[in-house]
Amino acid sequence: MRAGRIVLVLALAASGSPAAAASGQGGSTESTVETQARHPASSSRPAAGGSGLAQQVAPQDDPAGRQEEQVPICPLPNREAVLMDKIRKSDAEWRKELTPEQYHLTQEKGTEPAFTGAYHDQKAPGMYDCVRCGTPLYDAQAKYDSGTGWPSFYEAAAPENVRTAPDRSHGMERTELLCARCDAHLGHLFEDGPQPTGLRHCINSGALKFQPRPPQEPES
Ligand SMILES: [Zn+2]
Repeated sequence: MRAGRIVLVLALAASGSPAAAASGQGGSTESTVETQARHPASSSRPAAGGSGLAQQVAPQDDPAGRQEEQVPICPLPNREAVLMDKIRKSDAEWRKELTPEQYHLTQEKGTEPAFTGAYHDQKAPGMYDCVRCGTPLYDAQAKYDSGTGWPSFYEAAAPENVRTAPDRSHGMERTELLCARCDAHLGHLFEDGPQPTGLRHCINSGALKFQPRPPQEPES
């Protein structure tokens, strides 16, 4: 009598169904991300009851294809989200590519001293891209003077491009903001911003690279 052998095959469909890789663990906010990826023409306003940003997608969603993980990113000015490979680099690789300050801010989740960054007082029209991967993160149209000494925005240029994660460091309960594509630490999200969102994206200048260009036309 031959002992039966059970072979458990985990048929991960992530490579054939990229949207599934981004859909997360079934939370309502995560399905918002999926909806936005599939229906990019729909409103880019923040969803009710949330920050409107991409929520953290747990990597165990696709344990076998982690290096293949894709995320919906808006390649502005084109507002249609497309799936892009997540950028993953080791600490050593980032250290080689970045200045010591950029490395400290984006990889070690540092905070630049208030009123010292290049962009805290900048008002020119343009786009603030991720200093590491170039993903467009914040439009100057959403920048306002918060008086804090850090660049402050009431919303991300595209909700897909910035993600949030809980941050309980330094004895505080905060919401961390990260580049959705390369996981660069950007800053923190607070709920004392101006309308229309009431949110304040408090961002380190050193995590951004300003691209001066005319503000986007609403719709042509
Ligand atoms: Zn990035």
